[in-house]
Amino acid sequence: MTQIPATVVTYPDGDVTGTATVVHAVLLADGRTGIVLDRTPFHPVDTAWPDQPADVGVLRSSSGEFPVVTALTGGVREGDLVIGSDLPVRMGAEGWTFVVVHVVDAPAPAVGESVEAYVDPELRAALSAGHTACHLASLALDAALADAWTKEVPTDAAGHPAFDMLAIQTSRITAYGSTDVYRIGKSLRRKGFDPAALDDLRAVEERANATLASWAETPGAIGIHRGDRTLAGRRTWRCELPEGAVELPCGGTHRTSLAEVEAITVALASAEVPGGVELTMTTGIRLAH
Ligand SMILES: [Zn+2]
Repeated sequence: MTQIPATVVTYPDGDVTGTATVVHAVLLADGRTGIVLDRTPFHPVDTAWPDQPADVGVLRSSSGEFPVVTALTGGVREGDLVIGSDLPVRMGAEGWTFVVVHVVDAPAPAVGESVEAYVDPELRAALSAGHTACHLASLALDAALADAWTKEVPTDAAGHPAFDMLAIQTSRITAYGSTDVYRIGKSLRRKGFDPAALDDLRAVEERANATLASWAETPGAIGIHRGDRTLAGRRTWRCELPEGAVELPCGGTHRTSLAEVEAITVALASAEVPGGVELTMTTGIRLAH
C-alpha cells in the first residue's frame, strides 16, 4: 500500500511554473505514465464536471525533459490510485485523497526526483480568459431571463433567478470563450420558467450583451479565494461588479481584473429536443491591449 499525499495546487494563484518532487508514478493503459507531484501549477480536467480543459506543458529534471500531454484528476483510496473516467466519486468525496496526474510519454521521471514544472502560458491565458467570460456570461444570461420566472427559485450570486444553475447541462471552456448548453424541459417549467421568454432570442441576447458591455467598462478585481491549498480544497471565484461583488464556487483559472477585458459577447441558439428546448450560449472574450 503506497501513501500518496493530496496534491497542493498553485494554479488558483495564477502560477504557471514551480518546483516539485515526484511522489508517485503509474503506468497507464495507453503505455504512457501518470506522474503525481507533491505540488503543481498544472490545472487538471475535472472528471465529474469537465468545464476547463487540462493544462499542457513540460516537466524538467536532471534526467531530461518530459512533455505533459494532459493532466487528469486522480483519487486515492486505501492506497489505490484511480484516474480520470475510472474515478467513481466527485471531487472532495469523503474517504478519498485527490491528486493531479500529469500524463507523460515514456520515459518518465522517477519517484523522488525533483522537477521544474512549466505550464504552456499561452494556452493557460486563453483558457483563463474563457473561464472568466463563461462566469460573467452566465450571470448576464440569468439577469436577461430574470422576468421569465413565475415562481420563487434559488438565486445566483448576483441575486437573479438562477437559470444557469437550474438548466445547465454542459459547460465547456475554450480558448477565449465557452459553450454552455441548457435544457428547458418539464422540470424547469414546473419550477416556474416560462419558455415563451425564449421566443425572441435576439432580445434576450441583446439584454445579456448590454449587461456584459457595461461590466467590461469597469475595473473590478477578479480573484480565486481559498483556505485549503490542496486540489480538493474549496475555492471561490470573486468578481467586483458595479452592482456589487459576486462569489461562486470554481475550480478553474481566471483573469485578474475586468480592466483586462475589452469585450465579452454571447450568441444564443435554440433547438427543439424531445421533451423541451435546448439552448446553446456561445461566448467570446476579447482582451484589452
Ligand atoms: Zn468556474
